[in-house]
Amino acid sequence: MNASELRKLFPILDQEVNGHPLVYLDSAATSQKPIPVLEALKAYYEHDNANVHRGVHTLGSRATDAYEGAREKVAAFLNARYTEEIIFTRGTTTAINLVAASYARSVCREGDEIVLTPIEHHSNLIPWQQAAKATGATLKYIPVQPDGSLLLEDVEATITPNTKMVALTYVSNVMGTVNPVKQIAAIAHKHGAKILVDGAQSTPHMKVDVRDLDCDFYAFSGHKMCAPTGIGCLYGKKELLEKMEPVEFGGEMIDHVDLYESTWKELPWRFEGGTPIIAGAVGLGAAIDFLQEIGLDEIERHEHELAAYAYERLSEIDGLAIYGPSKNRSGLVTFNLGEVHPHDVATVLDSEGVAVRAGHHCCQPLMRWLAVTATARASFYLYNTHEDVDRLAAALVKTKEYFGHGIG
Ligand code: PMP
Repeated sequence: MNASELRKLFPILDQEVNGHPLVYLDSAATSQKPIPVLEALKAYYEHDNANVHRGVHTLGSRATDAYEGAREKVAAFLNARYTEEIIFTRGTTTAINLVAASYARSVCREGDEIVLTPIEHHSNLIPWQQAAKATGATLKYIPVQPDGSLLLEDVEATITPNTKMVALTYVSNVMGTVNPVKQIAAIAHKHGAKILVDGAQSTPHMKVDVRDLDCDFYAFSGHKMCAPTGIGCLYGKKELLEKMEPVEFGGEMIDHVDLYESTWKELPWRFEGGTPIIAGAVGLGAAIDFLQEIGLDEIERHEHELAAYAYERLSEIDGLAIYGPSKNRSGLVTFNLGEVHPHDVATVLDSEGVAVRAGHHCCQPLMRWLAVTATARASFYLYNTHEDVDRLAAALVKTKEYFGHGIG
């Protein structure tokens, strides 16, 4: 894989920011979009746009084919057994909310447990808090190691026969840890619990096989994997989705409507009320083609190498604290520069053309666990190069000089 060549397919990266060539290191928040995805969106709107599942006219059936074709691509991409196991959503957040509001609320009772980890994104935390409040279930947390990793013995000790649901992230958006979700799924199933995997930070960066993981639900967002914003997916095992009630009602999701009663369509459409995100799905299909052509294994290898290089380069900067494991980290590095607020660090980096994220990264409990209010984070994707890491390191040295005393 040649990142410098691939980068040319991302027009947005070819610009100067504050007088410097842009170095975009915020792909964990959202990725940039390559020409094939931009062209697929343009072609869809220029030739095929119509509403789906309704019109008998030619554009209507072309749009339906494009939308349902994208679903087939997602199913193959995740190695789902059935295409109808793929529900299009707005993103990871909406997908998790659907499971928490529908599945969890129907199975959980007082005395039951929902098991999470303290490093979850708010999107995989608050929906479960709400489900617990509504059902009387208790939230339990698997303890984490100082580097953010999980020990299987802690997982074993936390999940019990009372556990109905385990929900955790595959890859942490702050620590960069990769959780052993396949083993955790086996432990959950041993106790009769179901498992939801938050795939927001894994799906864009590594090969995912939901059947091999044997997860019951899997959620991800298109915008972090070269697709447009506003499209994502929930994968769910067919036998579970079939038992779930919709949480959004209206057009598109109905079978028969009476004045006082209505019935729903079969899977997957019963969970897709209203006009769906048709162009978004087309863009997601194009993004999947693009990523598969490069190869998810190649992308993962490239990013792990960049993250290891970044860890090494940033470790050379005196006074810079790096969070997360020193080895086997996914493609991101989270750090703080002495006592300087990460917003100030990110502002100085931006003046050097280097875009990083600063804040709590939607992980307030994790920030408290790290005993910080916020951190800065550089995250990599297939278009980032070793030169980008060098620019980050050089800009951080400048930032350190700028803030002067008290660092290192
Ligand atoms: N989970 C994780 C681990 C994430 O990193 C994110 C996005 N930062 C989300 C969930 C939420 O994704 P979205 O905002 O696309 O719904």
